[in-house]
Amino acid sequence: MVLADLGSRVAVALRKMAQAPLVDKDVLNEMLTEICKALLQADVNVAQVKHLRESIKKNVDVESLASGMNKRKMLEQAVCNELCSMLDPGKEPYAPKKKQANVIMFVGLQGAGKTTTCTKYAYMHKRKGFKCALVCADTFRAGAFDQLKQNATKAKIPFYGSYTETDPAQIAAEGTAKFREEGYEIIIVDTSGRHMQEAALFEEMQQVSDAVAPDEVIFVMDSSIGQAAHEQASAFKKKVAVGSVIITKLDGHAKGGGALSAVAATGAPITHIGTGEHVEDFEDFEVKSFVSRMLG
Ligand code: GDP
Repeated sequence: MVLADLGSRVAVALRKMAQAPLVDKDVLNEMLTEICKALLQADVNVAQVKHLRESIKKNVDVESLASGMNKRKMLEQAVCNELCSMLDPGKEPYAPKKKQANVIMFVGLQGAGKTTTCTKYAYMHKRKGFKCALVCADTFRAGAFDQLKQNATKAKIPFYGSYTETDPAQIAAEGTAKFREEGYEIIIVDTSGRHMQEAALFEEMQQVSDAVAPDEVIFVMDSSIGQAAHEQASAFKKKVAVGSVIITKLDGHAKGGGALSAVAATGAPITHIGTGEHVEDFEDFEVKSFVSRMLG
């Protein structure tokens, strides 16, 4: 059975509350129970869920509010505010600095959209005036280098990779050293996509990280993975210092509820979202519009 996306479940609970003839303590409790259940089943941290429940109860006291007050709107707003604050881990994302090398390593499961996102990220920063370059440290998937090369060429971004070298840490080290020497400001290292069970690939990811000592590690997550988000994000966080998260494929049907779990699991902020296959389909993360979409 495919469980409904977290956002849809929260939206259903809100709708039920909005349709109740009278919003009293029981209706509020029922709504909160449903929302908390959905959050817990999506593996959002227990303490955060408890905080959401208590904070909404404290902020909207349905029993003592005058009857003319729009309790439904107030509750909707309170839930939105809580979800927004759950998406904010209270940590500023890494901001690349000009006139110095910023090595940024991308990690994520195979198919998450990593290679595509590397080019989008480089392209966005190139337009902001950074000197960007791409390094392909994926020797595992046949065709990975060609894919990166093709994307990079189209976006006119310099790239580095090898058809013969089999050690990804070696390529990553060579590529970053070359681009550092040449004065590049954002050096993006694309790593091999992995499946959750592949311990060897996780080891390899660590070796690449050791070889390039990244200033930032970005975890790329497919918005459609729903319930699996927490397990995935924690697996990556355990092995490398995930500093920020990018959620891809938000142009599809997914509501992106997994983002809550990814933030909870990594303690890292979401910085951007992917909204299509093209290099320009990339946006800064806006928490309010993300939450409305999640509940829409
Ligand atoms: P990787 O294995 O993580 O490097 O994933 P890829 O970058 O190869 O992407 C896998 C597929 O997802 C490709 O067909 C991409 O075009 C597609 N893709 C990546 N990001 C997005 C996105 O934001 N929206 C859509 N619709 N497709 C995307």
